[in-house]
Amino acid sequence: MFCPNCGRQIPDGSKFCPYCGAKLSLAGEPEESQVQTVLSEEERKKRAYEEELLRAKAQQAARVGIKSPGVAAVLSFFFTGLGQIYNGQVGKAILFIILGTISIGLMFIGIGFILYPIIWIIGIVDAYNTAKNANDALLRP
Ligand SMILES: [Zn+2]
Repeated sequence: MFCPNCGRQIPDGSKFCPYCGAKLSLAGEPEESQVQTVLSEEERKKRAYEEELLRAKAQQAARVGIKSPGVAAVLSFFFTGLGQIYNGQVGKAILFIILGTISIGLMFIGIGFILYPIIWIIGIVDAYNTAKNANDALLRP
């Protein structure tokens, strides 16, 4: 290679010209651009992941549609799983109904009195949050 400053022939890969002392950016460049590539690869993965998250959220929102979080919560208040049915999450509703039924059955041995209120409250909170998140995702500009 040749020094771009003085034009003399210098060893390949020199970082500085041994004749004039000029800094040769070419020699250091490959290393730096490699670091840049690694960083942008990481950044790209992060962005792809965030996009995937947003897409999953939007898909769930589209399934749920515009719902009233209040109505969902009230329905779950009166019957565990009903708020999930209102939100269109039938599988989740069935899960809550099964868990609720099991915990009512467990009231005969006492533990149901603790378990049922927990499932009941989780059902209300989940119904409210699902409806609210769906609305937030759908109404986002
Ligand atoms: Zn030189």
